[in-house]
Amino acid sequence: MIAIKDNIAEVELQISSACQQAGRSATDVTLLAVSKTKPVEMIEQAYNAGQRTFGESYVQEAVDKITVLQNKPDISWHFIGPIQSNKTKLIANHFSWVHSIDRAKIAKRLNDHRSDQDTPLNICLQVNISGEESKSGVLIAELPSLLNEVSQYQNLTIRGLMAIPEKNAPDASFTAMQTLFKRLQKQYPSLDTLSMGMSADLQPAINAGSTIVRIGSAIFGARAQK
Ligand SMILES: *Cc1c(COP(=O)(O)O)cnc(C)c1O
Repeated sequence: MIAIKDNIAEVELQISSACQQAGRSATDVTLLAVSKTKPVEMIEQAYNAGQRTFGESYVQEAVDKITVLQNKPDISWHFIGPIQSNKTKLIANHFSWVHSIDRAKIAKRLNDHRSDQDTPLNICLQVNISGEESKSGVLIAELPSLLNEVSQYQNLTIRGLMAIPEKNAPDASFTAMQTLFKRLQKQYPSLDTLSMGMSADLQPAINAGSTIVRIGSAIFGARAQK
């Protein structure tokens, strides 16, 4: 059996050590436990170890698990996967955060479906930082107009940016995100979230100012291919 509690403690240690090296406070970085493809029982183990923030990537799988775990209302659910427009209602109704918005059309649909909720949906815009054609995320050149449009939606609160860095040069991607984020903060002072860093690269991400690290396999073990 995987000792999820031990894994979380180990990841938290890595986070605090990375923060120390970067001269940051460990309380500035949130650990998002990415539980996609993993069963409810594992999420409960993490919960019993004190974890309250979870990330999911597949809508129907996530909604099934969130429904089973309704008796734990202090869990904060973050959606981090690709978004199809016909899934926006489920996402708006079951999650408190969405990290993976890269189109105005998706933002508008989330905004419209969120109208019956009493709190706005927290969102990050996903940036295609390396400009690779195969990658999801908004291109840097298109980010200002997307930000401008999305900032007008009342049921969404723009919190910041998210990125999945280029595999070959993660550090360069992280640094580019940090620069971009600082520049946009001047225009939108309420931006407070930089979502970057996964199991293999949380240290350089934190060094570049990440405030949410999205950690899956280091907590729950390797995933089967999906
Ligand atoms: C799966 C996933 C993660 C977690 O990746 P690990 O390498 O298992 O830590 C983080 N972010 C996103 C967007 C993911 O899809």
